[in-house]
Amino acid sequence: MTKLIDQFGREINYLRLSVTEHCNFRCFYCRDDEQVPNCKREDILSYEDIQRIVRLFAELGVSKVRLTGGEPLLRRGISKIAQLISNIPGITDVPLSTNAQLLEKFADKLYKNGVNRANISIDSLNPERFRKITRGGDLTQVVKGIDAAIASGMHPIKINAVAMKGVNDDEIESLIDFAIKKGIDIRFIETMPIGTAGIEVQAQHMSEQEIIERIKHHLPGQLTPLIASKTAGPASNYKVNASNTTVGVISAVSNHFCQACNRVRLSAKGDLILCLGQEDSISLKDAVRSNLSDKDIKEMIVRAINKKPEKHVFNESIDNISNRQMVEIGG
Ligand code: SAM
Ligand code: SF4
Repeated sequence: MTKLIDQFGREINYLRLSVTEHCNFRCFYCRDDEQVPNCKREDILSYEDIQRIVRLFAELGVSKVRLTGGEPLLRRGISKIAQLISNIPGITDVPLSTNAQLLEKFADKLYKNGVNRANISIDSLNPERFRKITRGGDLTQVVKGIDAAIASGMHPIKINAVAMKGVNDDEIESLIDFAIKKGIDIRFIETMPIGTAGIEVQAQHMSEQEIIERIKHHLPGQLTPLIASKTAGPASNYKVNASNTTVGVISAVSNHFCQACNRVRLSAKGDLILCLGQEDSISLKDAVRSNLSDKDIKEMIVRAINKKPEKHVFNESIDNISNRQMVEIGG
């Protein structure tokens, strides 16, 4: 089988699939307040488009497909999409990234349809602050969504919290305690300068080092470092002793994790995005809707992967940053 190995020797086996640009939240670091998705129904990948593209990626060695968005649970037929993807030979891992507002309703069905684990975004445990950050989110509903995910059998469940100075940095400790109490994992994310919303929030940026110091100070003598596997992703992680929780930091800015990058992104409109921090993309929607054969499209994907940049450059110059908003890229 041809594998997707780029010119820097990195094997690409992970596809982040955005299924919609719509979101029921408007997190201030992710999208401009006035941003509205600019797509008609025919602009976004259909079930058939998604099934064919993921099958071709699977034939090229991709085994992990994350459902993301926007908010993936807003996509009509999300459970069916999960089922189509998880039934593709070679796809063994179908995680979900969600804000969990609607997860209470969907968790069971998604798990039965092949979603084996979930990352849930939650930046504050204070309902009023949570509503402000997300510009409308309901914390109670999100916590019910987390509980439903745990009860469904999805494992592991991971909380993702964007750490921001003066916004929620006073909650690092309580968010960790919450994760320990629920028996789930937690990662703090450094703000990334993606889109205008992401650039503006850099004023609140907390470095990986600052966050790790806070974690260590909160749990002295209780952390065992986890050895990062090649595919574990860009986190510095610790096991919290005598608990079911791991805690860590996803540090795209302080730490270039690009040399271990194993992923590409597919937007809801079918653009294959090669690197989070750069503009390069090719339209796989056009490809699957043309009369190109599977072989032609796979060759196109292989050529695109060969152009995957060595690294993002968003900590060098903001001129190099993609103009896309995070809500369009899928995180
Ligand atoms: N709506 C889902 C959610 O919130 O989990 C999935 C999509 S969201 C774009 C994926 C992840 O991107 C979330 O964990 C969110 O916190 C993160 N994110 C969005 N904008 C960011 C930024 N500027 N810096 C760092 N992380 C960001
Ligand atoms: Fe929506 Fe997720 Fe972006 Fe928040 S982070 S606006 S929930 S896509």
